[in-house]
Amino acid sequence: MAQHILRGLSATNFLRNSKLCWKNSCWFSASATHVVDLRSDTLTTPTPKMREAMKNAVVGDDVYREDPTVNRLEEMAASILGKEAALLVPTCSMANTASILVHCDGRFNEIICGDQSHIHVYEVAAIAQFGGVQSRFVKNQPDGTMDINQIKEKIRPLDDEHQPWTRAICLENTHNRCGGKVLSLDYMQQVRNLSSQHNLIFHLDGARLFNAATALKVPPAEISQYCDSVSTAFSKGLCCPLGSVVAGSQDFIAMARRARKALGGGMRQAGVIAAPMIVALEEMMGRLEEDHRRARTIAEAVNYMGDNPVCKVTMSGVQTNIFLLELDGVVSPEQLSLRMKQVTAQEKKALGQVCTALMFPFSSRTVRIVTHNNITDSDVDLVSKKLQYVIEELSA
Ligand SMILES: *Cc1c(COP(=O)(O)O)cnc(C)c1O
Repeated sequence: MAQHILRGLSATNFLRNSKLCWKNSCWFSASATHVVDLRSDTLTTPTPKMREAMKNAVVGDDVYREDPTVNRLEEMAASILGKEAALLVPTCSMANTASILVHCDGRFNEIICGDQSHIHVYEVAAIAQFGGVQSRFVKNQPDGTMDINQIKEKIRPLDDEHQPWTRAICLENTHNRCGGKVLSLDYMQQVRNLSSQHNLIFHLDGARLFNAATALKVPPAEISQYCDSVSTAFSKGLCCPLGSVVAGSQDFIAMARRARKALGGGMRQAGVIAAPMIVALEEMMGRLEEDHRRARTIAEAVNYMGDNPVCKVTMSGVQTNIFLLELDGVVSPEQLSLRMKQVTAQEKKALGQVCTALMFPFSSRTVRIVTHNNITDSDVDLVSKKLQYVIEELSA
């Protein structure tokens, strides 16, 4: 039965059957299909207030440090992150790369990071390309942490001329590839202690730091207090069209500014980017809790299905706006994602709804689901019912 259904699933069929159009900041099908796009929180679009702020932003040349809106954003971000200074960068990848270039000045340097970290997996080896820095990975545990003893074992001796020098430890909070996991304050403290004992720098990839703060119910600075530098992305759950911030000491930011210029990230009237980021700091952090609640509701709908050969969710791992469906091998992540895109006649009849759900085949055994500002409670309801229906169908 499952194989029979899967044969009908092809990308071309999907494209042929659903013409998508852009309306009210969301994708809708030209036919009656409603599209719920759970692939990523980067799909969020700027709110009307952000658009307004962009339009009205007072700007200047930021490379001359004369953009008042950028200056204001950087002050606000430094304060919220509990650091001396902050810097606007176009992307969080650049925030990470610029930070590591500064921390690993000179030659023969290495950082320690997770094997599933964004820095190691998704940044095109930028630190190697542009900084000559080697990344040495420690296996990420399912909870997003690296075992402290394993990190310790990877720290290089200073006096062996055969080996590079370990300069920094990098963590990610929340952890994307581990399914939006939150690293605890206690773990952050342990890594701080280890870094200090070995005279290493602690960099935090906090692309989703605000989600971590929301989940831990603490101000962001309570998390970033443990690290020397922190990057944060505004183009994800916070809904800005682009923009990231890196924060740290005055001296570090002065050098990060130089690294940003070298990487091509010195921008001119960047106030149009900073203005919606200020809106985000003022009023978008509070709504992340909604995303977390909605992710949990979808996860619970899957969990409700109990033992089945298609997929399961580890509920203790559903902590923020990202979670992973763990597939049991009957269907592949691509096949499940493709089926979620389709609407069959039987399904329409059984559920009385026509919903196309987009999800991200994430690894050989997982599908990633991400909630964000474009996802409403009624979307969550449609997707939950559809997932339950599809699991039952593919289990048959
Ligand atoms: C998205 C992401 C980045 C990079 O952000 P961009 O702005 O897309 O370059 C870095 N780290 C993590 C954990 C991310 O999820």
